[in-house]
Amino acid sequence: MARSSLACLVACALAASGCERFVERQVESTLQRADQSLLESPALHVVLCGTGSPLPDPDRAAACTAVIAGGHFFLVDAGPGSWEQVDLANLPTGALRGVFLTHFHSDHVGDLGEAITQSWIAGRAQPLDVYGPPGVARVVAGFAEALAADVEARVAHHGDAYMPRAAAGAVARETALGDAPNASAVVFDQDGLRVTMFAVDHEPVRPAVGYRFDWKGRSLVVSGDTRKSASVIEHAKGADLLVHEALAASFTERAVATAKRIGMERLAKLAGDIPSYHTTPREAGEVAQAAGVAHLVLSHMVPAPSNFLVRRSFQKDAESAFSGEVTLGEDGMRFLLAPE
Ligand SMILES: [Zn+2]
Ligand SMILES: [Zn+2]
Repeated sequence: MARSSLACLVACALAASGCERFVERQVESTLQRADQSLLESPALHVVLCGTGSPLPDPDRAAACTAVIAGGHFFLVDAGPGSWEQVDLANLPTGALRGVFLTHFHSDHVGDLGEAITQSWIAGRAQPLDVYGPPGVARVVAGFAEALAADVEARVAHHGDAYMPRAAAGAVARETALGDAPNASAVVFDQDGLRVTMFAVDHEPVRPAVGYRFDWKGRSLVVSGDTRKSASVIEHAKGADLLVHEALAASFTERAVATAKRIGMERLAKLAGDIPSYHTTPREAGEVAQAAGVAHLVLSHMVPAPSNFLVRRSFQKDAESAFSGEVTLGEDGMRFLLAPE
């Protein structure tokens, strides 16, 4: 227990009014912890709000990367557990402008309902924009249906002046990129922040895309889920920061062999299907090297790098192919790209 808290509890025992002031201060700091200054910052801010995968990990939510620049606050994906990380990072949740979905696997969309609902409760003034490839309208419609009773209840309970129905829910912003393997399109361009959606290769899952953010001469690229992709190399050219997925195939192969040995055939089949549509850490390093990026951040790591051996394997493999900086992403990690 912090010394100040302990001192206050002692004070509480002596005077009930001291205890009340302690509680008030705690509540006040909790209510005011959203860092609104990020919206005024001249830099592009990146916060990792989910660096895990579908595999359970007590320290990592599933896929989510927060981006703030030019007064705009976006998420790339909203995997299960990620909204809590967004909130715990003290991000200005009521200013969330939109979510860019890379594809529709559940580990990328599971918390979209929380993003839609909680940012509305935090004061979002218009429906949330949800960007994505074809199929995003169906995902948004599904969440709208699932959340309809919640919206009705909150508007009726608090009143439309405080929980405006007009700001509830989300609007799908669907972009079809066409069939070219390196197709791209600018999907947001305002106040100097440009966001480009580009095709990636997560076959047999289609469509699947990544996103590039350009802000005052600085750039961030989020790969989404993909095997090693020439399109990522092309669209990450010269990026300052590349947040790339990684799956350590050697560990997965061992998991498949073990599952077979102990008679878990179904699990062995499912796990055996996975490596072919992901990128190994070494391949992520090769992508970063070929694209000439400055800093590679691994995210969406399989297996979860929860011990020294796995962490060292990810780091070493990526560094074996990339001469720039390599970071193993962790939830809550922050990066800042100051304008040039
Ligand atoms: Zn995934
Ligand atoms: Zn996926």
